[in-house]
Amino acid sequence: MTRIPFLDLRLANAGIEAEVREAVCRVIGSGRYLHGEATAALERRLAQLCHRQHCVAVSNGLDALRLILLAYKQLGRVADGDEVIVPANTYIASALAVSQCGLVPRFVDADAVTMCLDPALVEEAVNARTRAIMPVHLYGTPCWNGQLRQIATDYELLVVEDNAQAIGAEACCPGLDGVTTITGGLGHAAAFSFYPTKNIGAFGDAGAVVTGDEALAAAVRALANYGSDTRYHNIYIGYNCRMDEVQAAALCVSLNHLEQESGRRGLVAKAYDDAITAPQVTRPAVLGDCRQVWHQYVIRCSQRDGLRQYLDAEGVGTDMHYPVPPHRQPCYREEYGHLSLPVAEAIAAECVSLPIAAPVDAATAGYVAGLVNRYFER
Ligand SMILES: *Cc1c(COP(=O)(O)O)cnc(C)c1O
Repeated sequence: MTRIPFLDLRLANAGIEAEVREAVCRVIGSGRYLHGEATAALERRLAQLCHRQHCVAVSNGLDALRLILLAYKQLGRVADGDEVIVPANTYIASALAVSQCGLVPRFVDADAVTMCLDPALVEEAVNARTRAIMPVHLYGTPCWNGQLRQIATDYELLVVEDNAQAIGAEACCPGLDGVTTITGGLGHAAAFSFYPTKNIGAFGDAGAVVTGDEALAAAVRALANYGSDTRYHNIYIGYNCRMDEVQAAALCVSLNHLEQESGRRGLVAKAYDDAITAPQVTRPAVLGDCRQVWHQYVIRCSQRDGLRQYLDAEGVGTDMHYPVPPHRQPCYREEYGHLSLPVAEAIAAECVSLPIAAPVDAATAGYVAGLVNRYFER
């Protein structure tokens, strides 16, 4: 029986391993392990990818989000107790960043089709304390449209993108600058994660902040380096949230393959979309007016656990993104447990992520889709 793991990072990285080994060896030989050429090169390339002036490579995605919010606090753009609109269907890190900065997450339910923040519900969540909105491009689907842009403009909200899952995706309409459509360049600032399982993954933890705002970039850079703007001069009570040269060098290699990787994921998603025919299954929306980069391929069905068991018995690994929404997690139960966010809760109860990371290809997806259909035909 062919065993198809949900994700095996050794297999996923096999295609770039030789190049990464070489790049890592160069770093070791350089004698410079932080603040070196690889980090500078990665920052230039990420900024360029997003059509933005500034990028700061940092320790991970959660820190990237936190540093953006902390920098806005230092710049006087947000203050303790201010609210940030956060999608109810997201990985919990989006909300944790807000809470950890003394700000208040305001959960807004998902759109049943895109599974991202429902723009129609955002406006009613805005109040006098709302300062920012955090669109999360979940599963690689851009969370952006004209309505969201209008609300952000009308209420003068900061737009902090959580682009952890969508490097290389393109929205259906331009961002706040009226030009750029690529995720990470749509709002005022964006956080990236290079957690090993992401579309572009490090060999450990890594993240980045991208922005067009020079003052914000400078504040983030200082905060991530003990609050130091120049050597032995500390303007903030800062942190140590730097990315190391080894990770930066590996990520530069991965970035060379971003187009190829997004293309492969697109073909796998198309194969799933074509071949899954069971009426009990809701396939993720294929949005023709934007570019999805398919971090996850998430189907929904009411017999979720049965389907997962069946696929597992047939040798196919699956996962759930995510089985418990943030507002139902123990850490948030007291504050938010009473909330009713029905779409996010239904996604949590019904979601199944099918294998999509390399080396999965269209043929593998066709095979897995056949098993999904068969489960419902039995
Ligand atoms: C992975 C992820 C994060 C956190 O990134 P880390 O690098 O793991 O800290 C934040 N938001 C979303 C949506 C993510 O998927």
